[in-house]
Amino acid sequence: MSQQRLRIALQKSGKLSDGSIELLNKCSFKIRPAKNHYLIKSNELDTDFLMVRDDDIPGFIDSQVADVGIMGENLFIEYNLTHSDNKLEIISKLEFATCRLSLAVKSNSNIMNIDDLNGKKIATSYPATLANYLLENKIKAEIVVMHGSVELAPKIGIADAICDLVSTGTTLKENDLVEMQVLLFSEAILVGRKDMPQFIRTKVKELVFRFQSVINVRNSKYIMLHIDKNELPKLEKLLPGYEAPTILELQGHPGKVAVHVVSEEKYLWDTVNKLKEIGATSILVMNIEKMIA
Ligand code: ATP
Ligand code: ZN
Repeated sequence: MSQQRLRIALQKSGKLSDGSIELLNKCSFKIRPAKNHYLIKSNELDTDFLMVRDDDIPGFIDSQVADVGIMGENLFIEYNLTHSDNKLEIISKLEFATCRLSLAVKSNSNIMNIDDLNGKKIATSYPATLANYLLENKIKAEIVVMHGSVELAPKIGIADAICDLVSTGTTLKENDLVEMQVLLFSEAILVGRKDMPQFIRTKVKELVFRFQSVINVRNSKYIMLHIDKNELPKLEKLLPGYEAPTILELQGHPGKVAVHVVSEEKYLWDTVNKLKEIGATSILVMNIEKMIA
């Protein structure tokens, strides 16, 4: 029945889009977004994807236009602060689109700490989160709401400081701004309604299980190598997350073993060189698509 389809809201284009599509496609959804497609249907779990602006996602879930959605934690916090009935819940953290909401000022500003913000103007796209922070810290400042290009506000003289999302800090640097204080850290999250019907909850549980199977191995590699048995303790130090390795005797090479292991550390050439130094040979490093717990 049509109303039993799972409806997932995604950001159509922006900082969450690539990460969301990549994660879903690793879970077999086969999504191929196109410019004018606002609705993508998938046979996988009988799902409809609604491709919208990120700002619309919390409201869509709240008003039951979508069952769940992927958004930044920062947006979830802002939405909850402006909607006191609090019907949304975080179902799972998704470990991409990590960033922080920070206060920043011009590099030559006389604002040295947050107390200096008293009586000043601060531009932001997250007014409720900022207002809450200012209240908690007993700072009286004027909030100027902007929906984009917040980093330009000090340059064009409409604010003394900004409160904006930062990841690498490049945008701040380019605009001669320095980060002064972090308000919160954020990452992509899956959000739903607390009162989801049971059949939706069952599908969402399956979705989260698939997400976790992909997320669990994002930073892991499957490593196979041959090594002298005596060197096994050193190997343990070189491969963080080295747990329950498979160790097999190598026929015709007494004292040598083949080791198969999932290592949590990102694969680095540096590690491979150190493995070679302790005599490892036939080193194979493989990507892991999924790891089912
Ligand atoms: P839309 O057109 O959908 O309204 P937008 O311009 O408002 O898009 P984006 O800039 O794409 O939104 O940001 C969407 C979300 O991505 C943010 O709410 C935040 O969670 C995350 N994000 C923002 N900036 C960064 C960044 N520099 N690095 C990583 N994640 C970020
Ligand atoms: Zn937006």
